[in-house]
Amino acid sequence: MARHQAADRSVDAAASEPARWSPRGWWARRPAIPPEAAARALAQVSDGVLIADMRQQGHPIVEVNPAFEVITGYPAAEAIGKNCRYLQGSDRLQPEIAEVRAALQEGRGCSVTLRNYRRDGTLFRNALRLVPLRNKAGRATHFMGLIRDVTHAAGIDRLTGLLDRYGLLDRLAAIGAGAPASLLLIKLDIVRFHDVNSGFGYDAGDALLRAAASRLAALPALAVARVDTNSFALAFELDDPDGAAGTVDEVLDILRPRFLLPGASLAVKFAAGFAVGATDADPLQLVRQAGAALQRSKAQAGHAPHAFAAADEREARNRIRLASELQTAVANQELFFHYQPQVDLASGDLVGAEALLRWDHGAFGLQPPDRFIGVAEETGAILEIGAWGLRTVAAYAARSNRNRHVPIRFAFNVSALEFTRRDMLAFVDRVLDETGCRAEWLTLELTENLMLPEPGPVRRAFADLRQRGVELSIDDFGTGYSNLRYLESFPLSEIKVDRSFVRDVADSPAKRVIAESIVKLGAALDIRVVAEGIETEAERAIMRTLGCSVGQGFLFAKPLDEAQFQTWLDRS
Ligand code: C2E
Ligand code: MG
Ligand code: MG
Repeated sequence: MARHQAADRSVDAAASEPARWSPRGWWARRPAIPPEAAARALAQVSDGVLIADMRQQGHPIVEVNPAFEVITGYPAAEAIGKNCRYLQGSDRLQPEIAEVRAALQEGRGCSVTLRNYRRDGTLFRNALRLVPLRNKAGRATHFMGLIRDVTHAAGIDRLTGLLDRYGLLDRLAAIGAGAPASLLLIKLDIVRFHDVNSGFGYDAGDALLRAAASRLAALPALAVARVDTNSFALAFELDDPDGAAGTVDEVLDILRPRFLLPGASLAVKFAAGFAVGATDADPLQLVRQAGAALQRSKAQAGHAPHAFAAADEREARNRIRLASELQTAVANQELFFHYQPQVDLASGDLVGAEALLRWDHGAFGLQPPDRFIGVAEETGAILEIGAWGLRTVAAYAARSNRNRHVPIRFAFNVSALEFTRRDMLAFVDRVLDETGCRAEWLTLELTENLMLPEPGPVRRAFADLRQRGVELSIDDFGTGYSNLRYLESFPLSEIKVDRSFVRDVADSPAKRVIAESIVKLGAALDIRVVAEGIETEAERAIMRTLGCSVGQGFLFAKPLDEAQFQTWLDRS
């Protein structure tokens, strides 16, 4: 009790001398704080506190408070005796550490934010304040470290320096308080970002994110954030809500020039969704709405920017529902194939068919693959669907070719995930064996992203499949980020020129040049070239003139059900 009074008096004394008050002065005049009171005070503060003894070798920790134990996960008994460096783990190359070292040497305080690691190995950002505790002679005998976990509170994305998702929400809430105008929220996604990482390496992926961030940061936005690996969000104040689309176009314009990355120069596509709301509306709601609109943009070919409409939220909910119902679609026999004829462009003969997946959903009706393949890949349901699908198509191919004079090829779309998760060779072998389908009747179509230089096991599987006689095709050729050079290093039998080059080939000299160079490349490498999406006679004639041997598209036939396709089989 007597000690408490002593402490109180010293505070009173300080308060009664405001003119001369300074922390250092108060500290110097204070009577010794009773140890139990100090311990009680330390137990109450929410910052972690550690005290290190600078007089002992290795500057061991001699005291920590309960908040320290909570933040770091280390109980006092484990922390005491260690040098506080141990919180950095092996992550020693942080510029801030040099500042800490200098402060300790000079016996002065400092404030830095460090990457530290909890006892379970997880990272936290430590806003550390170091305070020297001096003896009467002014020598720093101890250091007190105040530890604050700012992992999320900081609101800054380390990679790009933009706001992170927490920072964005804080900023939006702060805007809402004052401004009268309306708010535009834009969400952007780098299309097929995964291809950049797997094709050019994570350094290039990171460089792309930073370069995109620095272009976005130059815009007069109220907030710019990276809210997910390859997603950005921007908020703009709008005087006129009708100006939203124009602002979105301006944002996309600055992202249009090619990005120069280590080892690559890339034209990068961004999908965009946006929503407009009152500045005092719930910011979370606006972010959600822009996100739902972004999903729509991503689902459409061309990824044009999409304005949020109430239907999009329903759509987002439906996606979640689709994802869960897809798990049982195979078992419930709701999936089946349509077959689209492929014809010889010179003779018009039927030479093959592409199997295209359809889902007859009980409540939503017939679903095209673009609506659910992405979801199936995200949830892994594609593995079961793909396994069932290949069996189904191989069995159909065997049935269709059994009595044919000249057999036709059946093309099946394989998802990248199947190639990396499954022993494709063993699986294909088993399917051929079970169904009686011959290897050369089967063509596996892969989108361009699998061709990227991460060859290893995928390339080996390709080679083994080709050895067996199964054909391999690159789908949607020309739309990915990959380099044409990779073509020669993969044992391919077919390229499918993407629909976007075939369309308008009659009118656009540029598209014609691209289509022509792909056809020439195929000829040089002895690879069959198939033109996708031929809709007009003009497109057919030009593709044929360019030297393309096979075509597929609405001009010849839409994807057909088995009964309709049978008439094609019978006719040829
Ligand atoms: P894809 O493999 O490039 O298939 C061609 C798509 O173009 C089909 O769309 C087809 O209906 C459409 N198409 C064909 N000719 C024309 C034309 O002349 N004009 C236009 N505008 N479109 C044409 P669909 O059936 O909606 O399939 C979309 C995509 O879904 C496919 O693109 C493929 O990537 C994927 N897919 C389809 N079936 C499967 C499957 O069984 N497994 C996997 N993993 N993906 C599949
Ligand atoms: Mg295909
Ligand atoms: Mg295609």
